[in-house]
Amino acid sequence: ERIVSGDILNDEQTTEMSLRPQFLSQYIGQQKVKEELGIYILAARERAESLDHVLLYGPPGLGKTTMAMVIANEMGVQIRTTSGPAIEKPGDLVALLNELEPGDVLFIDEIHRLPRVAEEMLYSAMEDFYVDIMVGQGPTSHPVHFTLPPFTLVGATTRAGMLSAPLRDRFGIISHMEYYETQDLKEIVLRSADIFETEIVEEGAYEIALRSRGTPRIANRLLKRVRDFAQVQSDGIVDRSVADKALSMLQVDHAGLDYVDQKLLRTMIELYQGGPVGLSTIAVNIGEETETVEDMYEPYLIQKGFIKRTSRGRQVTPLGFEHLGYDPISERE
Ligand code: ATP
Repeated sequence: ERIVSGDILNDEQTTEMSLRPQFLSQYIGQQKVKEELGIYILAARERAESLDHVLLYGPPGLGKTTMAMVIANEMGVQIRTTSGPAIEKPGDLVALLNELEPGDVLFIDEIHRLPRVAEEMLYSAMEDFYVDIMVGQGPTSHPVHFTLPPFTLVGATTRAGMLSAPLRDRFGIISHMEYYETQDLKEIVLRSADIFETEIVEEGAYEIALRSRGTPRIANRLLKRVRDFAQVQSDGIVDRSVADKALSMLQVDHAGLDYVDQKLLRTMIELYQGGPVGLSTIAVNIGEETETVEDMYEPYLIQKGFIKRTSRGRQVTPLGFEHLGYDPISERE
């Protein structure tokens, strides 16, 4: 398990619940998404209607589940949550739809992983609030029509492009969640420290924010580890020096790279003069699957400007050389 993974780790459910902001006003960052949703929510409430269906897309750990809960709170309705892989058969979806009260939010995480039959059932549910279900078998089988209360589907996915067009088109509101600015992450760290009743100074929060890969989930996780370090190795106060020592011990560097990211960059520089080098070659060299490199390591390195994609493979940028202390010019000659 990587400490800098955007995915939720085994023991994090309870902590995450306690750290979730409840309302838009407490939700830090994502200014554009918040502004848009704020207007739509207000308008729907004034008309006493359910909110249009919302699709949230963006990398893991940026606060999609949190935003779905905030939407329900702001609308003053209940939320039911599930995920694409949890719905194995149409009956699972019908059971959830059947429990909805007017206006409720149904949140489906990883909506791109819904089985096809369930997805098709959602089309009429989203558009006209009904589902037709086949009951019985063979010649006696017949459709039964279920009317549903108006509800809001909030879907979350890591990439909007992974959704089929008919499903995507049924969302009235499509919001893209961006990686967080360091300043916003710092505010999140300060807020979480307050909830943990941990003493922290601004520079300590900023140091954690810098190394959190633009992701609140990682920021909160690093804060927990730094807090433990401060308690055992220092006076319990999280300042810049404690944060730096703790995160260096955890092998998370100043740009938020862990040892695998560094190994990847170093391999490209030392064995291939920085590239261009093919993805599968990189993967073999660092002992990972090609898909893992493409999905888990490469996006952040590209986002930081340490590597770039070229038509002949991946290439380390001058910034990438510099980050690991290599001289870009002499190394390339
Ligand atoms: P996944 O889809 O992988 O589950 P997610 O995008 O749904 O990830 P969340 O579970 O909503 O992410 O958020 C992860 C953690 O980050 C939560 O503990 C939440 O409290 C915190 N968090 C997310 N966004 C914010 C925010 N804007 N302000 C404060 N805390 C936040």
